Amino acid sequence: MASMVTENGRGAAAQTAQPQGPSRGAVRWGPQHAGARELASLYSPGKRCQEWISVILCFSLMAFNFIHLLANFHLGHVWYIQLGIVAGILTADFVSGLVHWGADTWGSVDLPIFGKAFIRPFREHHIDPTAITRHDFIETNGDNCMLTIFPLANMAFSFLTLSPAEIYHVYPLYCYLYALGIFVTLTNQIHKWSHTYFGLPRWVVFLQDWHIILPRKHHRIHHVSPHETYFCITTGWLNYPLEKLGFWRTLEDLITSMTGEKPRADDLKWATKGH
Ligand SMILES: [Zn+2]
Ligand SMILES: [Zn+2]
Repeated sequence: MASMVTENGRGAAAQTAQPQGPSRGAVRWGPQHAGARELASLYSPGKRCQEWISVILCFSLMAFNFIHLLANFHLGHVWYIQLGIVAGILTADFVSGLVHWGADTWGSVDLPIFGKAFIRPFREHHIDPTAITRHDFIETNGDNCMLTIFPLANMAFSFLTLSPAEIYHVYPLYCYLYALGIFVTLTNQIHKWSHTYFGLPRWVVFLQDWHIILPRKHHRIHHVSPHETYFCITTGWLNYPLEKLGFWRTLEDLITSMTGEKPRADDLKWATKGH
């Protein structure tokens, strides 16, 4: 984890693929975009505090659970552990797609509390994709850490209260949940790396090149306006199959038919701000 912290602060040298839209050639993207400036100014001290608390709690629980997983390791579980890890990563990739799709496609920055805190970063990211490379470790990872605190605390409590025999039985499930928790937590860090073109540690580039984590070229597909596909940002393994299935389109049609809401209405509003 330490090497991930040191990775931050190199954002100044970072570059990202510029979004290419079919019909918005006149729109200038980046930090000077009027909408991007307004969105960046909404990042408040209270929000910062929530992110700090989340990161500290989450990483402490992660270390605690890791020690207990090691202490309870049995050779007989080796296959289940591998299966659990792969299933956990796949689930995390799907969850990343679902949350990203939900925030990109529905809701508005104007929603009370929630909009400013959790929808704002998604709007900012489309009109200023380089902003994420200038976010430090806390801003990058705070929200995802918050998501995993409760399940990780629940696992820690189980390690303290269950008997060794009971732990033996739930061990494969815990490996699945732990892999899921780790990858959900790291999703935005992985996403940030996919936008960083200079100064990445060599091992990160290796993981990207072998498509173990989200590769840079792969994620560029999402940044083509109007941002309607390739929402998975942990490993991206599910992007191609979900696109072939028309998964996101079907889900959007279903929601539009039920609520009358148009997908990406708020995203489009921010993209065209000041133009
Ligand atoms: Zn997006
Ligand atoms: Zn992105």
